[in-house]
Amino acid sequence: MNDPTELYIASTAPARRPTRQARVAWGQRVVTLGGDAPVRVQSMTNTDTVDVIATAIQVRQLAQAGSELVRITVNTPEAAAAVPHIRERLDRMGVDVPLIGDFHYNGHRLLSEFPACAEALSKYRINPGNVGKGEKKDRQFAQMIEVATRLSKCVRIGVNWGSLDQELLAGMMDANARRTEPWDAKQVMYAALVQSAIGSAEYARELGMDPDQIVISCKVSGVQDLVAVYRALAEHCDYALHLGLTEAGMGTKGTVASSVALALLLQEGIGDTIRVSLTPQPGEPRTQEVVVALEVLQALGLRAFNPSVTACPGCGRTTSTVFQELAKQIDDHLREMMPSWRERYPGVERLKIAVMGCIVNGPGESKHADIGISLPGTGEAPAAPVFIDGQKATTLRGEHIAEEFHRLVADYIERRFGVSRSIPNDSHG
Ligand code: SF4
Repeated sequence: MNDPTELYIASTAPARRPTRQARVAWGQRVVTLGGDAPVRVQSMTNTDTVDVIATAIQVRQLAQAGSELVRITVNTPEAAAAVPHIRERLDRMGVDVPLIGDFHYNGHRLLSEFPACAEALSKYRINPGNVGKGEKKDRQFAQMIEVATRLSKCVRIGVNWGSLDQELLAGMMDANARRTEPWDAKQVMYAALVQSAIGSAEYARELGMDPDQIVISCKVSGVQDLVAVYRALAEHCDYALHLGLTEAGMGTKGTVASSVALALLLQEGIGDTIRVSLTPQPGEPRTQEVVVALEVLQALGLRAFNPSVTACPGCGRTTSTVFQELAKQIDDHLREMMPSWRERYPGVERLKIAVMGCIVNGPGESKHADIGISLPGTGEAPAAPVFIDGQKATTLRGEHIAEEFHRLVADYIERRFGVSRSIPNDSHG
């Protein structure tokens, strides 16, 4: 390097791809997807929709966890009949999150025969591969689009690798076989997914649907497949895109695969709303998929939902678990308090806290945070300097370091984000 002062490194913050903006509404609540709207988080229930109370409770849990839209299965006449009751219960509980109906095979009938269901839903998910076969396909698709257009509801045309329109795929495979140099079967599959989504969207427009009512998705279960398909979608259309890796799996595998896939595309500005399709582990709450989605957006710097706690991983310098316990306590406390703090302390979601294990990176990382503590590592003096807004504020000692740090955090939040705050919010970006 000749002149290090010339080492200008540009920020890599993702720039969003311009898309149309869809409006998904319920009552006064409007959730915009695409355009200049933030990337939205959505989720799906796994209760039997016929069970009105269980479904309403889970929708509320998902909404409280941060899901801005919640999808429910509408697969039978009984489920369609239950939808308005679910909506009503949610409204009575003060939960105005818009509901999306997930339709396959019989959506045309359910939407026509259960008008209260069609009204209570704010958006319909239509899978072009599961609409019908042969001459029924277009007619049944048109029936669903007619209801959506008449009621001004958005639709997601949601193509899925596992239920791709087999007639379309067969036609494209035949055409490929006639090429002088045929493509690999995978490339034909990618093209069929994109063609199914965009072709169905174009047909919906021919039927009179406003293009701003259309969101599309092409979900696959492989990370590299997803990236390839969404890059193509982004290149060939300007509809708002619903992004997600389907059948991601459970636990660490599902979380990592989903996070990687979403991050790669979001970093390219692709994706307007996301869902993390995690299979819950036994005993794991359904809300885990929302937690992961929020963390992905926050980690990418696209949105802020919760204060962030930076904690070092620990190493041979930290032979006690004090700092791990403190980091966890702070994290748990912040999550627990956030529902009420959001109202009480506007902007608190941007707070950065550092809990570090020793002097090596502790003071440095703590100075970068809004409030940080550097705990003593093995063999270090039993003192924990606390930094506030980059300045050393105090040093904690003794048995009650954790409690005292909690109090300092609470005071800081009150001072900075409370109604009578003395430090302006925007001074901390
Ligand atoms: S800050 Fe200290 S304790 Fe934490 S990982 Fe680095 S060297 Fe180890």
